[in-house]
Amino acid sequence: MNPSLKGQAALVTGADSGIGKGVALALAGAGAKLVINYAHNHDAAEATVAEIKAAGGEAFAVQADVSHEDQVKAMFAQMYAQYGTIDILVNNAGLQKDSRFVDMTLDDWNTVISINLTGQFLCSREAAREFIRRGVVEDRSRAAGKIICMSSVHEVIPWGGHVNYAASKGGISMFMKSIAQELAPHKIRVVGIGPGAIQTPINKSAWDTPEALDKLLTLIPYNRIGKPDDIGKLATWLASDEADYITGTTIFMDGGMTLYPGFADNG
Ligand code: NAD
Repeated sequence: MNPSLKGQAALVTGADSGIGKGVALALAGAGAKLVINYAHNHDAAEATVAEIKAAGGEAFAVQADVSHEDQVKAMFAQMYAQYGTIDILVNNAGLQKDSRFVDMTLDDWNTVISINLTGQFLCSREAAREFIRRGVVEDRSRAAGKIICMSSVHEVIPWGGHVNYAASKGGISMFMKSIAQELAPHKIRVVGIGPGAIQTPINKSAWDTPEALDKLLTLIPYNRIGKPDDIGKLATWLASDEADYITGTTIFMDGGMTLYPGFADNG
């Protein structure tokens, strides 16, 4: 199967690194034209753009902090000025600010919730407004628009020491389902992706030594760490008409991390 996104305009937040970059490259490979959003790393965003262009695709980079309403609105305005509209939004931007619960500062809590959860609200609202205004364009997609919310296995697996992060991902689950319910009559699909351990800068300490990787693999029945390209392929399929009847659910892509591996041998 080789899903086509030919002629569709896609915005991926946090596309200068890790999973977002993998998703952007995969969507572009399927024919979408891309907006590469980034927060700070201009050179990395331009490198993603260059990689897409070198492969014959179309892309440009836009700086915006997804937790700021004015910056999100300005980013969508830039996208509409260039591509006229949006067909696919991938809410990927996210970060961790870890600490023991009793030591967690309000600033660490607010930063993670603002970027991981409020950022998805601000971007999804802009995209949904445009999808509803424009409606279905028959020769591009059966849907008026697609929103993919990057969640995590921690939307269902509690995570001590990372309470702000787990709360943001649990929040994304109910956010995603609620807007999917509200937007389905407009032919807008909203889906979540719940990655397990994917090899990116966000979790470098969990895979950058053989000892750390061995420990991590005890949590992954399939016995390998995931790659951004794994998530890229799933996002491409979910955004395509091949997945036209999927909305309001999270697909976990985790090598079995959500299978409670601690119970594999009688618990
Ligand atoms: P990463 O650190 O490589 O990438 C994070 C991206 O978010 C970067 O591109 C960064 O620029 C962007 N970002 C951060 N703050 C931003 C802001 N305020 N505005 C705009 N962009 C901002 O990490 P990653 O692993 O690629 O993470 C991407 C997403 O995948 C996150 O939502 C993360 O929670 C999720 N995730 C990752 C894993 C994993 O194992 N790597 C597992 C589950 C979920």
